[in-house]
Amino acid sequence: MDILIIGSGGREYSIGLALKKDENVEKIYFAPGNGATDELGENLSITDFNALADFVEENDIDLTIVGPEAPLVEGIVDVFKSRGLTIFGPTAKAAQLEGSKIFMKNFLARHNVPTARYIETSSLEEAYRFINTLEAPIVVKADGLCGGKGVIIAKSHDEAKKAAGEMLSGNSFGEAGTSIVVEEFLDGYELSVFAICDGKDYVVLPAAQDHKRLLDNDEGPNTGGMGAYAPTPLVNEELYRKLDERVIKPTLKGMEEEGMPFTGVLFIGVMVVNGDPVILEYNVRFGDPECEELMPLLKSPASELFYKAATGDLKNIKIEFLDKYAVGVVMASKDYPYKSSPAAEIIIDDIHHEEVQENTHISYAGVSRGEDGKLYATGGRVLVCVGLGDSIKEARDRAYMLVGQVHFAGKQCRTDIAYQAL
Ligand code: AMP
Repeated sequence: MDILIIGSGGREYSIGLALKKDENVEKIYFAPGNGATDELGENLSITDFNALADFVEENDIDLTIVGPEAPLVEGIVDVFKSRGLTIFGPTAKAAQLEGSKIFMKNFLARHNVPTARYIETSSLEEAYRFINTLEAPIVVKADGLCGGKGVIIAKSHDEAKKAAGEMLSGNSFGEAGTSIVVEEFLDGYELSVFAICDGKDYVVLPAAQDHKRLLDNDEGPNTGGMGAYAPTPLVNEELYRKLDERVIKPTLKGMEEEGMPFTGVLFIGVMVVNGDPVILEYNVRFGDPECEELMPLLKSPASELFYKAATGDLKNIKIEFLDKYAVGVVMASKDYPYKSSPAAEIIIDDIHHEEVQENTHISYAGVSRGEDGKLYATGGRVLVCVGLGDSIKEARDRAYMLVGQVHFAGKQCRTDIAYQAL
């Protein structure tokens, strides 16, 4: 198989790495890819969806996998499908599960999937009235895509009203905030659960936990994610069963009934409240950095999973995972997440320790190849050091041993990834 991966992050690098190890896969293309994906395959500078489809036709590419949400919401899958090409991801209509919080919340309500009590509104008066019925903290969310920043957890009624006012006036998030969701605060622990879906059937991957805050002990500002680990011991069989019955099955059935069967990654942001799953949000693609830990845990060929999902053929698939844990530590640039940082050369010490050599790897994200052939940190989240082990502790120790070997000016990372599991 020849495969095209759309995207440029550590997530797409890790999918590429899993495909590189897969003997069914011959050639991998990335559009656009990053400064390190060219070691796994060929980077393409094509962005237009029809031009990408032309390239896929001309080069007989068997499967396209879409990493990020933006091209999904913009309809890349619709373009490819209208031309009879095989692509893994939801249509633009189905991608509204992520593209619009209001669509998602109303969908959950229609299909009795548990979620926080909420209203959607464009009226400040109505927002105020609902805010008055809630106890603080209160959650205010912009409707559209805001790169993970459109959620305010307000500590008081006044702060919630201020956030609602700023969103509705268009000051905070422009168009994405002119409709909002106001909802009750859920108190529990958060999980990321991923179901690979073919429209009807699905495979659930080991549950992961992400670390959104910049600093240790979950302090500092929210980020795209500073590290993750999987599988998390915070999920047991009972919770997986509840997720199946109360969340994934009604969601896939509902999407089918409403004429937009869901194909792709259903990323379920779950808050576990008193042992029960309550849905915070859906995303329609892999989490980044969760993907970087899940891909190396896959024992079955990655190409089979993605191809069968894209062609509606997951029903009898047997997917196996390694009986191991993975921990990923994000190394970010100096001024992340506030502003971009100057490019910094990445230097990796030779790894002599056999145990580290064999059980760790790097997933590259915000990196570029300089004219001198060297790799430079040029993005916010630069790379992810991933360790595998027989326990979370072993995987984490190995990941941090690798972190110690990676150098670039201004590098920053958390030192406590997976603390909740330890
Ligand atoms: P979202 O983009 O909706 O997942 O929100 C981003 C983050 O805000 C989540 O990962 C949670 O940590 C937090 N959050 C969102 N909604 C709630 C809620 N209703 N209660 C508590 N925390 C929330």
